[in-house]
Amino acid sequence: MQYISTRGGMAPQSFSDILLGGLAPDGGLVVPDNYPHVDHATLQQWRALSYPQLAFEIVSRFATDIPAEDVRRLVEAAYTPAAFGSEAITPLTELDEGLHLLHLSNGPTLAFKDIAMQLLGQLFEYVLTRRGEAVNIVGATSGDTGSAAEYAMRGKQGVNVFMLSPHGRMSPFQRAQMFSLQDPNIHNLAIDGTFDDCQDIVKAINNDAAYKARYKVSAVNSINWGRIVAQVVYYFRAYLQVAPQIGDPVDFVVPSGNFGNICAGHIARRMGLPVGRLVVATNENDVLDEFFKTGKYTVRASVDTHATSSPSMDISKASNLERFVFDLIDRDGSELARLWQEVDRTGGFDLGKTPYFARMVGEFGFSSGKSTHADRIATIRAAKARWNVVLDPHTADGVKVALENRRPGIPMVTLETALPAKFEATLLEALGETPPRPAHLAELEQLPQRSVRLANDAEAVKAWVAAALG
Ligand SMILES: *Cc1c(COP(=O)(O)O)cnc(C)c1O
Repeated sequence: MQYISTRGGMAPQSFSDILLGGLAPDGGLVVPDNYPHVDHATLQQWRALSYPQLAFEIVSRFATDIPAEDVRRLVEAAYTPAAFGSEAITPLTELDEGLHLLHLSNGPTLAFKDIAMQLLGQLFEYVLTRRGEAVNIVGATSGDTGSAAEYAMRGKQGVNVFMLSPHGRMSPFQRAQMFSLQDPNIHNLAIDGTFDDCQDIVKAINNDAAYKARYKVSAVNSINWGRIVAQVVYYFRAYLQVAPQIGDPVDFVVPSGNFGNICAGHIARRMGLPVGRLVVATNENDVLDEFFKTGKYTVRASVDTHATSSPSMDISKASNLERFVFDLIDRDGSELARLWQEVDRTGGFDLGKTPYFARMVGEFGFSSGKSTHADRIATIRAAKARWNVVLDPHTADGVKVALENRRPGIPMVTLETALPAKFEATLLEALGETPPRPAHLAELEQLPQRSVRLANDAEAVKAWVAAALG
């Protein structure tokens, strides 16, 4: 399998070649040149597989330039009960008859991003060691993505992580989660500024081509292809557990921001998994709900991006949407490039009056819904009262939209994207008590912490990183 750009301007490359990169050279996103097809007989056999065995079957179909026995070893190292709390890795529970919750948040940082990041850590180390190379990941975080990256890369050969966070602005839990890591390859830089300031510093570093090349600066953001592939696995896993017969439809609801999680569901469906509907759930930042309801994609300005109580879905544009639209328009790279030029020029595009709009809903199975702060609070309360289940705010957005979109006789799976322990303030507002926390994290805030505090100044950060790398 080879990888190409959604905008048509990249010579085909292997999985290992694109794994460490970000955007394609033409500004597009990398995608496989075809989706491997999985037939019903194979799906039937896969019902008996463990999570790592299933992950091997799927990842090896995309990472065709890595020897199969190596892929097997890497997925077995990534998906262990020690890291994810159970053999199941992604257990399912049933709330009401046919209404399921897929638990994706039992990894080290209590959010679904661990599932992709833990495999990415293994893959990065493998590819870098084989090539005798090293990378330095420089990123900015307001709490969630940065910690998942650090827990995935800690102790890995050939990788250093420099994670910028706004000093004094993370929750005590988030801060302790990151700053308690003592691994020498993990560096927490607390910046005297906001999250946006941190992002601006990362941008400034990436715009300094000489510095970037000299210090091998890299990233692990949500457009990374390896992350998407890892996420395809749990759609198969959940389908195989929930579908009465192979071939019966199963609907999925996905709390969404950058469209990375649900993009993996779209790919599973293209591979032949009999997914019925893929329902996008958004919060007040409803770029995606608008797109799937009207065909209009309108990027928001940062002043129009609301800070909500499901903060990991506060986005103004959905980076991974480009991968879906590429498939929707029959993989026409020049048309895709034209649409995204329109985004740059006018802030969006409109597929509402094109034949593509009907296909999104019909052939591609997408629909959407939206949830607000009041909905979120009400859903957290209702789930506790009806099912004695404590939901995190993002998963509550998903359950709210799931309840509105159920189809009689068709199982529906809502993806849980975080544990409530990460969002104490909102849980306190909804339930009047702090959420339960996994036992091994009870004393987290008491652990010794390690970080450096730096001025809101790109040059100061560059100098610190350069000195650390010697
Ligand atoms: C990242 C994240 C999301 C959004 O996922 P996307 O892949 O960006 O759509 C939703 N919920 C939580 C808790 C997250 O961390």
